[in-house]
Amino acid sequence: MIDEKLEPVLAQVLRRNPGEAEFHQAVTEVLESLGPVVAKRPDYLDHALIERICEPERQVIFRVPWVDDRGDVQINRGFRVQFNSALGPYKGGLRFHPSVNIGIIKFLGFEQIFKNALTGLPIGGGKGGSDFDPKGRSDGEIMRFCQSYMTELHRHLGEYTDVPAGDIGVGGREIGYLFGQYKRLTNRYEAGVLTGKGLAYGGSRARTEATGYGAVYFVERMLGTRGTGFAGKRAVVSGSGNVAIYTIEKIEELGGKVIACSDSNGYIVDESGIDLDLVKEIKEVRRERISQYAARQSSARFVETGSIWDVPCDVAMPSATQNELTGKDARTLIANGVIAVGEGANMPSTPEAVRFFLEAGVLFGPGKAANAGGVATSALEMQQNASRDSWTFEQTERRLAEIMHGIHDTCAATAEEYGRPGDYVLGANVAGFVRVAEAMTALGVI
Ligand code: NDP
Repeated sequence: MIDEKLEPVLAQVLRRNPGEAEFHQAVTEVLESLGPVVAKRPDYLDHALIERICEPERQVIFRVPWVDDRGDVQINRGFRVQFNSALGPYKGGLRFHPSVNIGIIKFLGFEQIFKNALTGLPIGGGKGGSDFDPKGRSDGEIMRFCQSYMTELHRHLGEYTDVPAGDIGVGGREIGYLFGQYKRLTNRYEAGVLTGKGLAYGGSRARTEATGYGAVYFVERMLGTRGTGFAGKRAVVSGSGNVAIYTIEKIEELGGKVIACSDSNGYIVDESGIDLDLVKEIKEVRRERISQYAARQSSARFVETGSIWDVPCDVAMPSATQNELTGKDARTLIANGVIAVGEGANMPSTPEAVRFFLEAGVLFGPGKAANAGGVATSALEMQQNASRDSWTFEQTERRLAEIMHGIHDTCAATAEEYGRPGDYVLGANVAGFVRVAEAMTALGVI
């Protein structure tokens, strides 16, 4: 339920941004959490503060022409939404996927504002991407696309202005091509303009692992509130990309057993525990489909229809994409005895699913808190670039763990303070909002 004082704000967002279902969903969720905040601090309703948070500072949409391997000209659409810079330069990844449109980028950018605020680091919120589909494209095609994309985007970036990173479809290879083109166009070796870079040219150790590892640290801390941990637990992790792979790695390291993962064609179940080296070879080296896992591992089966959430587990970590876990899936997970759900992806659970988890007393870590380890480590990469320094893996991972524990504890304490102990959704939304609201108030009406 939304507080009546915030109803007009939501109505304006819905009216102004027609057809942007995911953006509506993300704003509704945050505004629903803010009732108790504006009751306590009515001054946050002054100067259209909340209306301003819901309106991006700048949105850039551009044509991305490129030439494919057959010599044909292809046209894609590029986006960058610079949502809020009250806390620092815009920061948030780039997503290359055919489903990308302005509403998806706005939902991601909006979430990013509060996520970045929760890290406690000096970064604002933004997001970008393209409806380009990298699947099946050669390295040369990927490079030409990235170069064309950056040819327009570079004029909007800068280490003090806007610092993109990866997301779905954008990993180390793409960041390399994007950085190369930025450097060429600007004639500046401005390492801090992109994060997720390779170690050879200014990247940070542990950035590749950070989102997945961080999400597991968050869930481990949630489990700790019930006197337990990952050891001996059965886990299901959806997706098999960057976030999923390093989520699986850390769960296995902590003594849990991951028995299922997926891609957009289906899921695999391996009751003997997922062989992560095989997943890495299939997905990171060969860039093949996850079905290949079952073809090569006799203990595994590939399931093409149905839902990965049908697989009984103690811990579920949705790490693929938005709205991949429905109300029906949540009911199944609860019936099968799930203890904790940690969102590695952004907004993977539908609002109905979230409601079911909270009502059932399942420990539920929302994406903007649980997956903040990626962007936090990106901010650490910016720190290393600014000081021309390079930290060890252990040092970086230690900082990541501290930050994730801090985010967990902040969310838990905020939920408690507002009379909803254990509600990490409320805790994350409120704690993130308050930090941004304080900075925006100080900066005046801009
Ligand atoms: P990747 O591109 O590395 O992997 C995405 C994975 O999700 C792939 O296995 C992909 O399968 C699957 N997937 C994508 N779309 C769908 C879909 N519509 N249905 C089913 N499966 C799908 O991306 P990341 O791992 O980086 O990102 C995953 C999620 O984590 C996203 O929500 C992203 O926003 C979020 N995130 C990522 C961060 C990062 O640091 N990378 C930081 C914070 C959040 P397929 O190959 O078949 O498409």
